[in-house]
Amino acid sequence: MKAIEHLKTINAHRRLVRKGCFRVGLYYQGLTHDLSKYSPSEFIVGAKYYQGFRSPNNAEREAVGYSSAWLHHKGRNRHHYEYWFDYSSEAGGGIIPARMPDKYIVEMFMDRIAASKIYNGEKYTDDMPLKYYSKGKPELFIEKHTREMLEKLLHMLADEGEEVCFQYIRKNILWNRPGTRLAQYLENRRKIRSK
Ligand SMILES: [Zn+2]
Repeated sequence: MKAIEHLKTINAHRRLVRKGCFRVGLYYQGLTHDLSKYSPSEFIVGAKYYQGFRSPNNAEREAVGYSSAWLHHKGRNRHHYEYWFDYSSEAGGGIIPARMPDKYIVEMFMDRIAASKIYNGEKYTDDMPLKYYSKGKPELFIEKHTREMLEKLLHMLADEGEEVCFQYIRKNILWNRPGTRLAQYLENRRKIRSK
């Protein structure tokens, strides 16, 4: 059992996601991101399969054949596109991916940045979240709008960095949300002060 290490990883991950979410005005999501990781169903399994260089879910998958912690997690956390599977209303349409609300697409994006930072440490660069995404190639399972927005953000991050990318999110994706104007105000003030 690596309970302490696992706990530290969760806390460090949540801190990074919180910082990212706060910068674009997603205050509530920033505070509540991944809280289910502290529940016994996820925490005990995570501590048992802790490795430090990748998600314990992968280790559980290899040992058991599926990850019970992941199934618990994605069923409760809307920032995962895997949460958003639903039935088609057309007969015989089967299970299809639904369009994710923009605020969860942005949280998913912040989640991917934080995970890349945690697992790569000092070696992290802005193109890593895109590279990780490209390896997974989940086209079939993400609804079109959701996938296009996520890919656009990942490319923008790789090419132009966080500053430009977060600005784009505030101005073009989340502008109508209550927290965004506050985040923009704080960002402007931060910029003036650092000059
Ligand atoms: Zn999550």
